[in-house]
Amino acid sequence: MARYTGPVCRLCRRERMKLFLKGAKCDTMKCPIERRPYPPGIHGRGRIRESEYMLQLREKQKARRIYGVLEKQFRNLYAEAARQKGITGENLLRMLEQRLDNVVFRAGFASSRSQSRQWVRHGHVLVNGKRVTIPSFMVRKDDVVEFRAKSKDMIVLRHNLDTIDRLVPMWLEVTDGKATVRDLPLRDQIDIPVREQLIVELYSK
Ligand code: SF4
Repeated sequence: MARYTGPVCRLCRRERMKLFLKGAKCDTMKCPIERRPYPPGIHGRGRIRESEYMLQLREKQKARRIYGVLEKQFRNLYAEAARQKGITGENLLRMLEQRLDNVVFRAGFASSRSQSRQWVRHGHVLVNGKRVTIPSFMVRKDDVVEFRAKSKDMIVLRHNLDTIDRLVPMWLEVTDGKATVRDLPLRDQIDIPVREQLIVELYSK
């Protein structure tokens, strides 16, 4: 399955903000945004013309990068969000939140979405007792996400459970290493710095 494999800190610098793609490093002074808070490349510190298109593009890229989704898959998600009832932008964000790799991350099991994605791919994660190895799998209301009995002893997972102090969103309930989807997320429960309306405007052109 295709995924971005280049340097991820460049992505944050391009968006001029922390996207928290690297886990523990993001909260330290080693984060490149702390020292070089301007876009990468030779023209990074040059003047940037902020056109309407540029603003829309940046919001879309930011959302894609936060969730680790490539362009084609993101566009397909947008098409599905536009087909559904309700506000397209909110539908899109809700569907991104419903991804299994995101749920594992939100529940505080993984330090980053890329770590949770790897665990899903490697078959460590069960949904309602069945192994699911597709990071883009969409959880639904009342689904229970947990780790395989063998995988619960992974040192990294145990370390994460002891050290990660991230607020679990209201739509998830985490008890005894199990995350239960209480409800589908509402827009005000999704705390990502993205103006989804600009993404809708970009794709509606
Ligand atoms: Fe982004 Fe984390 Fe890299 Fe900082 S350390 S630039 S927040 S991925």
